[in-house]
Amino acid sequence: MTASPIRLGISRCLLGDEVRFDGGHKQDHFLTDVLGRYVEWVPVCPEVEAGLGIPREAMRLVGSPRYLRLMTITSKQDHTAAMETMIEERLDSLHKLDLSGFVFKRGSPSCGVERVRVYTPQGMPSHSGVGIFAKAFRDAFPLIPVEEEGRLCDSLLRENFIERVFCYRRLQNLLHNGLNRQELIRFHTIHKYLLLSHSQQHYKTMGQLVAQAERYRPKDLTAKYADLFMKTLAVRATVRKHVNVLQHIVGHFKKRMSPREKAELLGVINDYHQGLTPLIVPLTLVKHYVQFFDVSYIRDQVYLNPHPKELMLRNHV
Ligand code: SF4
Repeated sequence: MTASPIRLGISRCLLGDEVRFDGGHKQDHFLTDVLGRYVEWVPVCPEVEAGLGIPREAMRLVGSPRYLRLMTITSKQDHTAAMETMIEERLDSLHKLDLSGFVFKRGSPSCGVERVRVYTPQGMPSHSGVGIFAKAFRDAFPLIPVEEEGRLCDSLLRENFIERVFCYRRLQNLLHNGLNRQELIRFHTIHKYLLLSHSQQHYKTMGQLVAQAERYRPKDLTAKYADLFMKTLAVRATVRKHVNVLQHIVGHFKKRMSPREKAELLGVINDYHQGLTPLIVPLTLVKHYVQFFDVSYIRDQVYLNPHPKELMLRNHV
């Protein structure tokens, strides 16, 4: 794992700062008190940084996807230009900070990542869109994992987002000094089972890319691998896929187990498959045998420890 801090951007009101239009905040205690122990937050309040005061008149998105405006609701002032100026400067400074993710405030016309209501000039809801700042951020940094704080209440989405953040950080470290083929092969190898827990098909495509690495210019190889890596991790991992991965891992040492040990381990994996226990249960036993039999190929797999265990992301059924 990297020694430098993992930096995540965050909508500033989620940290408890009173920057919202009504002078309040929307502190999220999981983010500030739990995840905050493992990451360094980079707070951004696009509306305040665009020069709008606290408190300020509430705003909403108005127009069509091709011509979206950020307008105050009652006085109909258009703040789009101020926001666009702020965005241009801020994205530049965020680029230098090497962010590994961003947590946005749900539903905000500036920060919402999805399903932000867009209105007609007459004030009727017309369709849903993306907050102005969130859209610009995603366009500028398409590989960086982003999520809304509301969706992080879902244990599967939370695990997936945090896993992608830590994976993206490892990818940044890999690419930092320029990609070389040997390091790419090692990186790809240690992520094998994690990638397989998301998508066998993507993993196969990535394998072909790595095998043909010398055919690509370094810049193209970097772009292709990074894109595929993050796309694979965005595919939902399921119980069935985890069971497959666990069974593959067990295949590396099952000949060295006694019949009783094997039956017990397969029984624990089956309990997980049936939804009776969380992933952490079979995984803990698998990790025990990996250590016990000293299976170095598996011991190095990121799948066994993709994020700090204290976050307890694999403890849900
Ligand atoms: S949602 Fe975004 S723009 Fe609104 S207060 Fe929070 S950080 Fe500021």
